[in-house]
Amino acid sequence: MPSSRPRVHAGPSGETCDHYPRSYYAATIGGETGPNPPNAAPPNGAHLKGGTFADVCVIGGGFTGLGAALALARAGRSVRLIDRGPIGWGASGRNGGQVHVGWQQDLPWLAARLGAGMARDLWQGALAARSHLDGLIALADDACDYRPGLIHADHRAGQVPHTHAHVAMMRDDRGYDSLTALTRDEMRALVGSADYHGGSLDRRGGHLNPLKLALTMARAAQAAGAQIHPHSPCLAIDQTGDGWRVTTPAGSVRAGQVLDATGAYARALVPQADARVLPINNYIATTEPLDPEVARSLISNGAAVSDGRFVVYYFRLTPDHRLLFGGGESYGYRFPRDIGAFVRPHMARIFPQLADVAIDHAWGGTLAVSPNRLPFVIEPAPGLFAVNGFSGVGVVLAPWLGDSVGQFMAGGPMAGTANSGYDLVKRLPAPRFPGGTLLRWPTQALAMRFMALRDRF
Ligand SMILES: Cc1cc2nc3c(=O)[nH]c(=O)nc-3n(C[C@H](O)[C@H](O)[C@H](O)COP(=O)(O)OP(=O)(O)OC[C@H]3O[C@@H](n4cnc5c(N)ncnc54)[C@H](O)[C@@H]3O)c2cc1C
Repeated sequence: MPSSRPRVHAGPSGETCDHYPRSYYAATIGGETGPNPPNAAPPNGAHLKGGTFADVCVIGGGFTGLGAALALARAGRSVRLIDRGPIGWGASGRNGGQVHVGWQQDLPWLAARLGAGMARDLWQGALAARSHLDGLIALADDACDYRPGLIHADHRAGQVPHTHAHVAMMRDDRGYDSLTALTRDEMRALVGSADYHGGSLDRRGGHLNPLKLALTMARAAQAAGAQIHPHSPCLAIDQTGDGWRVTTPAGSVRAGQVLDATGAYARALVPQADARVLPINNYIATTEPLDPEVARSLISNGAAVSDGRFVVYYFRLTPDHRLLFGGGESYGYRFPRDIGAFVRPHMARIFPQLADVAIDHAWGGTLAVSPNRLPFVIEPAPGLFAVNGFSGVGVVLAPWLGDSVGQFMAGGPMAGTANSGYDLVKRLPAPRFPGGTLLRWPTQALAMRFMALRDRF
């Protein structure tokens, strides 16, 4: 692969990347809802200027790229990380903050498609990823606002026996006893909505402020010696005689290795990665701060909630008693003009009692969905790596897989060991979307719309 010259987009949504979107998370570090916590202040890196050298250049300052940069710097490698926007500008700094233990596909699906041994290894990997997140949260004075508990809520009565059987299987076959089945009455006591018929509670799940997590990781990577350059879009990746050259508008990095960790936000940068992901837009709104009693009536134990819809509804309370609600998708290049108005009917469907509550923040994000909903690691040319395809569950998996790929690229002690995330994910199939980069969008979007329609009945 001698050269890659991408078109530079502002992003699938056409948003500017000069500053963070107007999200609740940006407000928590910008002073809108309180003083800047010292550990959440954005890293002070300058944009990349002039010709520079590094062992590794990481493109993308989300969980994947930051995890890799941190591991590489800790292993003593010189590393430069560039991002087109401020650090955490992409999905990592604007997602639902839900901490899921596991993969987008459940263990029976994984066992049926990939074999029992692979399913077992993937479960061990998921547990390792969850422990890795504990280590990152511990770096922040405020633990990135982490709160324990993740409720899976079934919106159809017929789903409940399946969920309860899953809880029993996880306990009996995997020895995972953090998961509890919830009856309809137990669900109603926890979630103040008539929409749900039962489900489960995972005490190892939880929720956090993802932008604070991204900035905590960036600070740790800087402290370990990584050079971080926000506002430095990669324009081209060129193969040279002894490695790679990554070019930005004002500078370049010559590096032995390059990691493409651009999620759903770069198109045509590394075509082999691009062909394996479909960018999908998803939307979130936060209400005004609610009376604490009203907030408790929505989710009494403070856990995060996500439901069983194909286009999942996910919600949780923030430390200042807002409801943060995610719901609704789109598959085009633009976000709706009024995202608050787009999310509100979804929120009102679950919580009609909030119909008149003010929405203070509303924003969209773009996630990278892979054909099998599992992430992939590829090396399309020697020294050029790409990690992507977290398909909506990257808060736990992306920092861990980034770390593991960083360790592999550094040639460190984890390379080649059985439970490294790199080895595990390399064993997964990494299919391309049929139809190529032009046709995959309309055909897959049509399929997604059909599945989303089924949620309504
Ligand atoms: C609305 C939404 C809600 C979600 N909710 C959850 C959730 O609750 N729980 C969960 O586990 N997961 C969730 N996810 C998924 C999760 O956010 C992602 O899987 C994860 O953040 C992916 O991290 P990443 O580092 O791979 O990509 P990103 O965080 O998207 O990072 C990619 C970075 O690359 C940069 N970039 C792109 N092109 C270039 C270029 N040419 N040059 C330089 N830099 C470039 C971008 O600016 C961006 O910062 C959600 C995603 C969205 C969009």
